[in-house]
Amino acid sequence: MMPRYLSLSWKILLLMLSMLLLLLLWFTGLSLLHMNEQFNRQQAQRKAQGQQYFEFYNQSSAQQLLTWLQTHVELQQLHLADDFDQFATGLATQLEPLQQNFAVRQLSLFGPQQQLLYRSNAALPGNSNDIVARTLAEHSPQTLISCDVQCDKLLTLPLLDRHGEVAVLLATTDMTEVLFNLHQALGVEVAILRDSTDNNGLQRFTLLQASDHQLLQQLYQVLPAQFDMAQARRDGLVLTLQQHSYYLHFITLDPAGNGSHLLLMLEDVSAAVTENRRYQRRIIAVAGGCFLALLLLITLVTRRISRRILQLARALPLLAQRRYAAFRQQSTLQPGLLQDELTTFADSVLTLSHELETLDQQLQENTTNLQKMAMFDQLTGLANRNMLQYQLNLALAGLQHQPGYVGLLFLDLDNFKDINNSRSHAVGDLLLIETAQRLKSLAQPSDVVCRFGGDEFAIVLMHISTPEQAEQLAARVLALFDTGFTPEQGMVSLSASIGVACSADAGFAAEELIRRADLAMYQAKHNGRNRCFVFAEQMSSDLANRMQLEAELRQALAQQQFSLSLQPQVNLTTGMLCGFEALLRWQHPQRGMVAPDEFISVLEQAQLMPEVGYWVFERSCQHCVALKELGLPQVVIAVNLSADQFLDRNLPDNFAAILQKYALSAGHFELELTESTLVSHVSETLDVMHRLKAQGFAFAIDDFGTGYSSLNYLKQMPVSTIKIDRSFVMGMLDNPADHQIVASTIAMVHKLGLKVVAEGVESLAHLQLLQQHSCDFAQGYYLSRPLPEAQLADFVTHQVLQQQWPASLLP
Ligand code: C2E
Ligand code: CA
Ligand code: CA
Repeated sequence: MMPRYLSLSWKILLLMLSMLLLLLLWFTGLSLLHMNEQFNRQQAQRKAQGQQYFEFYNQSSAQQLLTWLQTHVELQQLHLADDFDQFATGLATQLEPLQQNFAVRQLSLFGPQQQLLYRSNAALPGNSNDIVARTLAEHSPQTLISCDVQCDKLLTLPLLDRHGEVAVLLATTDMTEVLFNLHQALGVEVAILRDSTDNNGLQRFTLLQASDHQLLQQLYQVLPAQFDMAQARRDGLVLTLQQHSYYLHFITLDPAGNGSHLLLMLEDVSAAVTENRRYQRRIIAVAGGCFLALLLLITLVTRRISRRILQLARALPLLAQRRYAAFRQQSTLQPGLLQDELTTFADSVLTLSHELETLDQQLQENTTNLQKMAMFDQLTGLANRNMLQYQLNLALAGLQHQPGYVGLLFLDLDNFKDINNSRSHAVGDLLLIETAQRLKSLAQPSDVVCRFGGDEFAIVLMHISTPEQAEQLAARVLALFDTGFTPEQGMVSLSASIGVACSADAGFAAEELIRRADLAMYQAKHNGRNRCFVFAEQMSSDLANRMQLEAELRQALAQQQFSLSLQPQVNLTTGMLCGFEALLRWQHPQRGMVAPDEFISVLEQAQLMPEVGYWVFERSCQHCVALKELGLPQVVIAVNLSADQFLDRNLPDNFAAILQKYALSAGHFELELTESTLVSHVSETLDVMHRLKAQGFAFAIDDFGTGYSSLNYLKQMPVSTIKIDRSFVMGMLDNPADHQIVASTIAMVHKLGLKVVAEGVESLAHLQLLQQHSCDFAQGYYLSRPLPEAQLADFVTHQVLQQQWPASLLP
């Protein structure tokens, strides 16, 4: 599950807010608590004050009464009296003034034995005996508050007569005056209550006296059904009545008694409570205001931060897209009053963008350089193989929009390897450079000239309307080589073989077009070089066949499918067999016997010829041994050699080793090579020929007349025999030109001191004509077809040694 997104500013905001809220709650709570405490303290002070005042009024009223009584006693001169009787009688008269001045409700006098001497009408309060006893005991005035149905203040004064007898004067006064004074002095309502608990355990108050009876009655109504009276006695109680708040202080009146009587001080604290509330509200409002203001501030700050972060975040992908200018524009932050981490970050990112841009530029430069290196040939400055591929693809793709043809000329310098080897590589390089320049001078600006590799070049005709245009260009390219090259001192003549392929198909693969042009070039090479071939479908199948044949030939070599056929040669002067030509045969497992013309060239191309050549020579040696044993000691076997075999520097040594193995001399062999073999690698071939000649081998020039070597050339060669090509011999009866060639060749060869073999003698007429021209040797179907190995022994024993052959065939 994707985590939900909450903006950074919100996170900070929430965090700050919760902290702020806590702080404010704490602060507000603290100040409210403080305010409450202050209020309570004030109230406690008020209560203490009330208590003090109460005490004070109580005492002062008692003191006044006491003073009055003492004065009265003095006036009566009680200390001179014998007893208290007279004094007691006089007390009744004092009752009225006492009632009026001191609110005395009752007055009584007790004798020394506590016997009642006088009593006013009113009943005695409950604990009058106690206080009287105490006064008698202590001989001093005593006061006491006694509560019953109502609360009375009791005051005693000890009296002495002449005999020292003690009597006690007891006055009971009302509390009303004290209450009234308290009410006046403190400005509070006062009341006296009796606190009791009823049968159900509920708190009950009985109102005994009150400055405002009605108010107390109403308040009594709103008193909670249950509350902690002990706490109320200690801390007071707040009651609300008709939008007024009253503070009730309870003061125990008779701590000596059971404490059930209470002095209630009732103060209207509405103003203070309202003030308190207002103050509370103000604190909360201030806290709320602070909260909102800070909220706004935080929001503003964090919004700005998050906006700037988002701005950077949105700009950063531009870096990846390499849009540096746009990135810088978008990532520039609005200048604030103060710098912060984001400013530093933005600065770093800016620096980064500059560095990246520089790096990118460098990268691009390097890439271009690399591309150049990858796309161009260092030596000639031409496009290279990669570029060719690229341009071809481009050209082919272009056909989609503009129908026509893409043409490709594939050019390979002829025998360049020989020049490279015989001169120097430096010369080779110069030739390649000049070839490149000539090709470039010929090509149109739209054409792409490439060096494909080594001595191979290619020209792409990006767009032509007909394939013929490519062929025309190829012809002009061939003509470029008519002029010789002068790389250093001395002239070098070069030629090229060109293959041409075209395509009008935009979907055609560049590789395939290159393959086709290459194939066509290959055909040009095969057909004598220095020419141009246009690709034909046939070439592909030819190539496939050749590949197949090559594979089969490798197998043939491994599985010994080769054999030899031996064709006898006749000495026309003696009319006797002089030797055999060894001809290679291939017994194909499916196709049967395959003629050498079909596979020799393939063996040569596959570079298998040297190996096969050794096999042919060794097999010829075996036949030579067999023929000697059959009774032909002087027999000569002609063995055909390919050009490749002469490039093998070990050929003379290896032949010598084979001869030694069969104890044969080189004089038994005549080595045949064609004119083209001689021409292709003159120096190497001549070198090997001389070494073989030195060993005792004789040489014959095969297929004479088909190549272009001159007889003049032959003078320098270690050649002893010339074999006139069978095409001239076969044609000489019908074709005067062939006849002329045969006749003049025999004459000239003889002039050079060499012998002549005529091949392709198919009839007696041929034989006769050749004899007329003094031809030395003859070979042909008329005399004998090439003999399979198996038939050789039989032929020698039954035909040759019996003198049957060739005598019967000769004229
Ligand atoms: P080549 O050296 O000119 O061999 C003579 C060819 O002429 C042989 O063909 C032979 O069968 C054929 N021939 C002989 N008499 C007549 C005739 O009266 N009329 C006609 N029409 N043809 C005649 P083959 O055996 O098919 O050999 C063809 C070529 O293969 C040879 O031509 C030779 O160049 C090459 N070759 C054969 N064996 C070898 C070999 O061992 N090594 C090399 N390097 N080449 C070989
Ligand atoms: Ca031959
Ligand atoms: Ca021949």
